[in-house]
Amino acid sequence: MDYGNIGKLQYKIDPLSNCYVCISHYLDKNKYPSLMIDGKMKRASRYVYELYSGEIPKGFVIRHTCDNPSCINPDHLLVGTHADNVADKVSRDRCAKLENNGRHKLTIEQVKTIYFSDNSQTNLAKEYKVTRRVIYDIINKNTWKSITKDFPVINRTKHYGRLFGDKNVNNKLDEKNILEIYLSKEKSKFLAEKYNISISTINDIRNRRTWKWLTNKI
Ligand SMILES: [Zn+2]
Repeated sequence: MDYGNIGKLQYKIDPLSNCYVCISHYLDKNKYPSLMIDGKMKRASRYVYELYSGEIPKGFVIRHTCDNPSCINPDHLLVGTHADNVADKVSRDRCAKLENNGRHKLTIEQVKTIYFSDNSQTNLAKEYKVTRRVIYDIINKNTWKSITKDFPVINRTKHYGRLFGDKNVNNKLDEKNILEIYLSKEKSKFLAEKYNISISTINDIRNRRTWKWLTNKI
């Protein structure tokens, strides 16, 4: 653990977050370390901000980008309004609520893992002890959007037909059908009628635009 000091404050550096956690001063009732300056109690974060960046405009507060009230790393301190602070808290509470919501039974980390997983929805559902619908909604960004909204869209064609396929043309076909279509010498129109699906679905299979994971093996 590395230690340092800023003025009268001593801190230890959290190697994971790079937070400078103040260890020399008591915390006030809101869990902010505070020190006596000119006979008045002052939050350490304000003291440090003023040392590094100058005076804090009247009515403004110091915000922590790291969400750690004990942190006095000048790089983690921003000046903002009280409204900003409230907005930060609301967004944090919302995340915490999502994470603690018993209906989901999943943590944010698990949601991220599920989103990027290459495993089938069935296996993921089993692994995390949730329904396949929960998995489906996560990877399609129907739920947990606050976590996944900026994640890249992942091509999951290979899992669609097996699950909520009633929303997807592939559902009507099983793997055997797909192979028959792929290997067939018949015209697409004939196959479309035979399997009661659209010609474009047939062509997508034949051209390996869909079900590629299956037909690639041939
Ligand atoms: Zn910090």
